[in-house]
Amino acid sequence: MHKVFILLGGNIGDRLQYLSMAKKLLQEKAGRIILESSIYETEAWGFEDSKLFLNMVLCLESDFGQEELLLITQQIELDLGRKNKGGEYSARTIDIDILFYDDTVYNSPQLTIPHKNIQNRKFELIPMAEIAPDFIHPVLEKSMMHLLAICPDNLNVRKL
Ligand code: ADP
Ligand code: MG
Repeated sequence: MHKVFILLGGNIGDRLQYLSMAKKLLQEKAGRIILESSIYETEAWGFEDSKLFLNMVLCLESDFGQEELLLITQQIELDLGRKNKGGEYSARTIDIDILFYDDTVYNSPQLTIPHKNIQNRKFELIPMAEIAPDFIHPVLEKSMMHLLAICPDNLNVRKL
């Protein structure tokens, strides 16, 4: 059984509904949700977009391997009607990113775990620090609380 942290985000359509559908599908197809953060409303990161994002982090217990989980999460993104796939960080109904998989470091052409840039994004660190403040980033070797305290990101992230 593996412990996996997953970030959900979306900024178009009924954002709460997409989060809730993504949670339901993850629970059905990927593993049991054992922890979930509050939902946060965040400014768009890395591109100009007037529509605010909703983000949250889930912790799942899963028997699937890293690549299997990526395929499952990508299928859920497709099922929930995500457009604009690939490349640019852009508007989307639902984005599902694998943040951590146990405390393993994993790299393949299509998958980087820990997810890159966690340390630079408050919308990832704030929900992570809420549900797993003492979890240690296996590459940076600092806790989520510590990374949040030193994160230079100044975009607004507020609890919904
Ligand atoms: P982003 O999440 O960076 O805004 P996408 O969701 O379109 O953009 O992802 C682009 C690619 O990132 C995916 O096709 C996937 O192969 C790759 N990727 C690399 N590492 C991860 C990860 N930890 N979780 C999810 N996708 C990842
Ligand atoms: Mg993604």
